[in-house]
Amino acid sequence: MIEYPTFVTHLECSYTGKRYPADTLQGLSEAGKPLLVRYDLEALAAGISKVQLIDREPEFWRYREFLPVRRSENVVRLGEIMTPLLPAHKLREEYGCAEILIKDEGRLPTGSFKARGLALAVAMAKELGVRRMAIPTNGNAGAALAAYCAAADIDTWVFCPADTPKINIEETAFFGAHTYLANGYINDCGKFVGAGREEMGWFDTSTLKEPYRIEGKKTMGLELAEQLDWQLPDVILYPTGGGTGLIGMWKAFAELEAIGWIGSRRPRMVAVQAEGCAPMVRAFESGSRHAEPWQDAHTVAAGIRVPAAVGDFLILDAVRESGGFAVAVSDEDILAAQAECARREGILLCPEGAATLAALKQELAGGRIRRDERVMLFNCATGLKYPLAAEFDRIDLHEPPDFANLRAS
Ligand SMILES: *Cc1c(COP(=O)(O)O)cnc(C)c1O
Repeated sequence: MIEYPTFVTHLECSYTGKRYPADTLQGLSEAGKPLLVRYDLEALAAGISKVQLIDREPEFWRYREFLPVRRSENVVRLGEIMTPLLPAHKLREEYGCAEILIKDEGRLPTGSFKARGLALAVAMAKELGVRRMAIPTNGNAGAALAAYCAAADIDTWVFCPADTPKINIEETAFFGAHTYLANGYINDCGKFVGAGREEMGWFDTSTLKEPYRIEGKKTMGLELAEQLDWQLPDVILYPTGGGTGLIGMWKAFAELEAIGWIGSRRPRMVAVQAEGCAPMVRAFESGSRHAEPWQDAHTVAAGIRVPAAVGDFLILDAVRESGGFAVAVSDEDILAAQAECARREGILLCPEGAATLAALKQELAGGRIRRDERVMLFNCATGLKYPLAAEFDRIDLHEPPDFANLRAS
């Protein structure tokens, strides 16, 4: 058994600042808000250097000093690679901007960046003796939880809206999770999980209702900083549902600055949502710190169909502090951006990832993003998990070939 060096000191209510002990099972704070993991950053700074990272495996556990897991035996590994930063050369030229980098998270286990958060949540659950985990999901989180729990021998219960992408539902059930479709939204499924906690003995793994998924998502910020030689981009566009990734990256940048690895300059954080479900955009525009639940939410980008987020104020605070903004794009523009990126760059974005490209295009035209800014987009899942609108014809191999007809097509 290898002891991981860990510098965790305590958990902290993100709203009131009240301290809670680490190393015991925790959900939300007494104020009903997310708990954040806090570290002894001075000790962390002394415990790891940038140079030491260089020789480590290209996986996110290379950042273990920044993470709360204490014993390596609790870590389940399914291939948590560092995801590539793909330059979109042709789109950059066409849009006339300085740089477009796409962080392609679709390469992670189960094909989405939910693997980062759930790998951490499951490792910590194992460490703290959890036997049963439950999650409300729009698809990818449930699949990631199911995979890590299969490997960790933890019993899993997954509840998703009935119109969750089919492949995710099948994938989740195939990993052996108890999988249920429900006639409601992700937050309705969340209420169901909350209600069943005691009787079913579930540990509630909902977005931001336990402290560790965000630590996993934090590795995106550490990783992109290292990949760019500790020079952060000017703008990060993030498809925002529950907001774990945006909040996690923001936390990563603060911790990196505290240990002296980066300066005080921050990317402008842009929360991208769909027009059919844009609670953060509405709150951002009205100057509010909290978002009202969105009614009749709908969008092709299932991962960002989140009518209400428990970490709303954390998303909005980060966006505002960074000088960024929240923006909505239409489903039509999302699908057009997805097709454009596939055909021009050979990169298959998921609809949520395509939403960030649609937002970039829209805001370059509108002027909120300048053409001299270095921009990073997040493709959070492989496009292969979603139905693709593509057309093709048939040929009859029993007939003589008609190449003239093919040439004309
Ligand atoms: C979950 C998910 C999102 C939203 O991520 P949050 O960090 O919860 O805001 C975006 N895209 C995809 C593909 C997702 O699965």
